Amino acid sequence: MSDLQTNIEKLNGYLERFRDTGILNRIDGEDCVGSGGEFTTISPVDKSEISKVARGNEADINRAAKSAADAFPAWRDTPALERKKILIKVAEAIEARAEEIALCECWDTGQTLRFMSKAALRGAENFRYFADQVVQARDGQHLKSPTLMNITSRVPIGPVGVITPWNTPFMLSTWKIAPALAAGCTVVHKPAEDSPLTARLLVEIAEEAGLPKGVLNTVNGYGHDAGKRLTEHPAIKAIAFVGESRTGSIITKQGADTLKRMHLELGGKNPVIVFDDADLDRALDAVIFMIYSINGERCTSSSRLFIQDTIKEEFEARLIERINNIKVGHPLDPATEIGPLVTEEHYNKVTSYFDIAKEDGATVAAGGVKIGDEGFFIRPTLFTNANNDMRIAREEIFGPVLTSIPFTTEEEALSMANDTDYGLTGYVWTNDLTRAMRFTDKLEAGMIWVNSENVRHLPTPFGGVKASGIGRDGGDWSFEFYMEQKHVGFALGQHKIMQLGK
Ligand code: NAD
Repeated sequence: MSDLQTNIEKLNGYLERFRDTGILNRIDGEDCVGSGGEFTTISPVDKSEISKVARGNEADINRAAKSAADAFPAWRDTPALERKKILIKVAEAIEARAEEIALCECWDTGQTLRFMSKAALRGAENFRYFADQVVQARDGQHLKSPTLMNITSRVPIGPVGVITPWNTPFMLSTWKIAPALAAGCTVVHKPAEDSPLTARLLVEIAEEAGLPKGVLNTVNGYGHDAGKRLTEHPAIKAIAFVGESRTGSIITKQGADTLKRMHLELGGKNPVIVFDDADLDRALDAVIFMIYSINGERCTSSSRLFIQDTIKEEFEARLIERINNIKVGHPLDPATEIGPLVTEEHYNKVTSYFDIAKEDGATVAAGGVKIGDEGFFIRPTLFTNANNDMRIAREEIFGPVLTSIPFTTEEEALSMANDTDYGLTGYVWTNDLTRAMRFTDKLEAGMIWVNSENVRHLPTPFGGVKASGIGRDGGDWSFEFYMEQKHVGFALGQHKIMQLGK
């Protein structure tokens, strides 16, 4: 049997349990059907139905928020070492079920096994990392004044809502939920309607690892319905959101009446700038990796290539050769490098840019075609002869589609790289250290890598500027979001208090 067939059989075994019940919500440690009925999740590989999914609505969110609020005092007051132990057990349980998570994720989203196997383990790392931070999370400072011993400490903000998108949904969910639990918050999670499978696995794994009931609740459903209510619910003190910039703006308005604290991780149209003095072999590998891995459905992808005109011809020729070699296929085949796009709607959006590019005068130098009509497969695509004003350079396509734009001077490259609504990541390739310093200092992005692809280190801040978001994840930045600073002043003696009405 081929690896692909073996993986399909294993997947079918894992999915068997959903056949009768569908994917249920999990509220207060109980499986629940959705008050809004059901919806269906479809595999992008062959458009087959994977499972029915409980459709949560306002009533389900109300119950989940109550459950998270009821569970909050006990979870907040659970000794840090006890919470640490539970989070480590969650990490171990994720590792033990990593294959199941990866196979389900691939089938639900079209992501390939080569990347999702790593993403599942990354989910475990997120829990392990934040488990290690639990003990220090509440530590504050002593800021003594002549009259007072001032002590600061941190307390968890309360029950929080986590709203996640369909791209790498398992990894992204753990990225939010692990620090929230480590901080002592309880959670209501609303996963993306297009990829609900692994969120269900996560809540199940967490409870089996010892997370008390009600500490993590999962309600499936649509954004305008369940998601909206979550952002409006008065018991929910903060919303950690990952998704489109437009949705980030909508939920900010929805949360205004209850003064929700918001952390927004949004879209990107990230530049990679390749100067002619760079190590071009490594730059080529990184440019390809950062737009075609994870199907290009990745917020940090470098979708705009700014290439110095002196090396443009040679670099683009090498790029085209490599792109035409990329293996598109079944996501459960370990050899596959790009799988199908997540949904028909997204496939139609991404492929619409093939014509938009031509209408705007760009050249389709590689790809630009659909593959069959059984699933949502396309060839990885490169647009050349483009400029930074074209729609392909301004709009987030969110697929395996790269736009190459030439530049002559450093100033020109910087000006075009910054001429965008977004500011999530940037990548600079040069062997001139002074130029790298100068360039990164002026580049408008929350995260920049020099002579490297995106290599995420968990203690560092992750987040964007401009339309790419508000707030940071990672290290202590996560706790700043999920916790409140508290100040207490103790009088050191009998300092003079101003006396009124005496
Ligand atoms: P989306 O904004 O359509 O949906 C994200 C989530 O928000 C889903 O769970 C959806 O149901 C929910 N939602 C939609 N409308 C809502 C509303 N009115 N109230 C509450 N919730 C609502 O995004 P998507 O298409 O699922 O994901 C792709 C986007 O996510 C891309 O723009 C990508 O760049 C972005 N993203 C950003 C990061 C980052 O770290 N900056 C990471 C991954 C993805």
